[in-house]
Amino acid sequence: MSGNKLKESDQSHNHLSPNSLPFKLASRGIKPDSTVLNIQDIQIGGSGVVVMAGPCAVESLEQLLTIAKSVQTSGASILRGGAFKPRKSPYSFQGLEEEGLKLLARVRKETGICIITEVMDTRLIELVCDHADILQIGSRNMHNFALLKEVGLSKKPVLLKRGMSATIEEFLLAAEYILKQGNHQVILCERGIRTFETSTRNTLDLSAVPMIKNLSHLPVVVDPSHGTGHWWMVPSLAKAAIAVGADGLLVEVHSNPQEALSDGAQSLRPDKFDMMMKDLIKVAQAVGREITLQDPVM
Ligand code: PEP
Ligand code: MN
Repeated sequence: MSGNKLKESDQSHNHLSPNSLPFKLASRGIKPDSTVLNIQDIQIGGSGVVVMAGPCAVESLEQLLTIAKSVQTSGASILRGGAFKPRKSPYSFQGLEEEGLKLLARVRKETGICIITEVMDTRLIELVCDHADILQIGSRNMHNFALLKEVGLSKKPVLLKRGMSATIEEFLLAAEYILKQGNHQVILCERGIRTFETSTRNTLDLSAVPMIKNLSHLPVVVDPSHGTGHWWMVPSLAKAAIAVGADGLLVEVHSNPQEALSDGAQSLRPDKFDMMMKDLIKVAQAVGREITLQDPVM
């Protein structure tokens, strides 16, 4: 049946295309121009590469303020920090919760840096919105459709992390849940997937970046900290992420990783973060981009 034979150019391992039906609002087939989000005076999805950095968990005012000032000086424009932590064990530190949100808001006021923090529960969306500039939906909640629908009703930008076992199709359909509710401010985050490999915490799927950029107009950022689980691997993967087209990075930084209440092993010390940022500026330039810098308020 020669009429049914695929042309060579049609043969593909990937059944997805920018015009694939499953994605409507997330699809580049429907919106060819890349989405550029404006968060305060920071653009995500444009020519600049935005670096979000900070501790895995907010632990104290002193810890957060010290890290915020240092990552800001090194060129990060958004501070990350978890107040509600999705821990494997219910006996592990669960975050400072509302107190952590207050500390984030206080540090934002003192430094002018924008805040991203995770929301895990529909009942807490309003509270988190009152303290943060960007809502983070964690990997474990990518399939929590009630939560996706509810953040879709909020007016805040949402950074959606890829589920650790989610295909790209499932990831984009999760984004679709948020978009469908009317919130078009969605950032996608590749943070590593589970494979047979055990030497790294996850396998950072950098091929997801060009694939998603081909399929969707949404900004894509990469988290090399959760993607590898090892602080010393973070700078290499961060450089690679920019080279493959990421619009930003989400990086864990801690002044005293040995004492960190979560994810110390994958947290960069501020001096190492600073060195990495200097390298990232060069990589960004090499691929026709620049790191988005925000002047400290002080
Ligand atoms: C985090 O960013 O601290 C986090 C818990 O990430 P993930 O949801 O990717 O595991
Ligand atoms: Mn973490």
